[in-house]
Amino acid sequence: MSENGSSGGLPRLLAGISPSGALTFDQHLEIHGELPVSRRRERNGSAALIDQIERAGLLGRGGASFPTALKLRAVASARGRPVVVINAAEGEPASLKDRTLIQSLPHLALDGATVAAAALGAEEIILCVGSRRSVFDSAAQAIGERQQLLGSSPRLRLAQVPDRYVSGQESALVNHLNGGEAKPTFTPPMPFQSGVRGCPTLVSNAETFAHIGLIARHGPEWFRSIGTASQPGSALVTLTGPLAYPGVYEIEHGTSLASLIDAAGGLSSRVSAVLCGGYSGVWIDGGQLDALSLSNEDLAPYGGSLGPGVVLLLSEQACPVSETARLARWLASESTRQCGPCIHGLDTIATVIERVRVAKGERGSGQHLARLVSMTRGRGACAHPDGAVNVLASAFEVFSEEFVSHSRYGRCEACELPPELPYPGVRQARADTLVPAG
Ligand code: SF4
Repeated sequence: MSENGSSGGLPRLLAGISPSGALTFDQHLEIHGELPVSRRRERNGSAALIDQIERAGLLGRGGASFPTALKLRAVASARGRPVVVINAAEGEPASLKDRTLIQSLPHLALDGATVAAAALGAEEIILCVGSRRSVFDSAAQAIGERQQLLGSSPRLRLAQVPDRYVSGQESALVNHLNGGEAKPTFTPPMPFQSGVRGCPTLVSNAETFAHIGLIARHGPEWFRSIGTASQPGSALVTLTGPLAYPGVYEIEHGTSLASLIDAAGGLSSRVSAVLCGGYSGVWIDGGQLDALSLSNEDLAPYGGSLGPGVVLLLSEQACPVSETARLARWLASESTRQCGPCIHGLDTIATVIERVRVAKGERGSGQHLARLVSMTRGRGACAHPDGAVNVLASAFEVFSEEFVSHSRYGRCEACELPPELPYPGVRQARADTLVPAG
């Protein structure tokens, strides 16, 4: 039981979610209760919150699993009045969790940001969303409600971020909020040192803030009462693939993938591989499906992590080489073209994979690709090239037989099918829904 008497089970974040629209502030308070610090703002009041978040063991939910308490401490110890930024830009095409949160349950993330702002003495909270109209409208409505009921302190601002893969990287977001392009900048300084208008800036993912809002109410022990020792609590997972009910699910860390698939209505076809962690994650052979559990420590033996909570199941009907070729070309197109190895490395890798796919004389392509991967890895201003070569290298390994077959015989029948991996604005083999399940 928590400090206010509620149990620690699921759903936590998705409690009260409804397909009929976003929860109003009143409905939100009915479900979760008053926020203990929502009307108070303190200078130098961060120690208690940092202690609480540290004891909870909250890790960021944007993909890197960075300890949230460390981030809070870095901002608290920087000079100047901090700014708090909720990152719901979600440039990862295979993820729907942040837009689901903001579209359906917008007050949770705003709660967490309010707690953080009060503790850090911040006077401004900026909520960053992508271009989806329904998400923007829900965010605007929630901000309006809070301003009417809670007044104008802290200031709440809504910002729209271009729908690019790297737009949600912290430095890109800050650059955009400072009037520049949503492109990563060379660091240092880091946003916690000099972010929005040069102020120390706390940038965290929308789901991370939602957890902070719940930890402030229920305490760290409640948070830790589910999940694993090294990754406590629950997480939102976007599950897609040949399933009856693909969508956004809330899981306890360490849940088996098989039980999540059951919750999604079961498989409608066999699965050749599982992509964990999104487009910077890793492919895992489908034969491992029944052995997989969803936490970073469970996925580490496969070289993976849960990342931003993406689990994508590739059906056996799909051509993995075509899927990899499309992914490589898309990742190359998402380079912001500021760093040579990223521009040229990713572009050349995509070209070589396409030549393998159509059997256009790529002898020794395996060694060629391995060399390109090692020349690209670790050589950009941001994490994009590293993430890209990680996911592509895992595809070469898991789909090695299919790559050999394509390099000899060229296209297969499945090459003509629509993509199963989602891309913005591209028709897919299956339309996944934004209807989340609790
Ligand atoms: S590594 Fe690539 S995506 Fe990142 S800043 Fe450089 S060019 Fe842009």
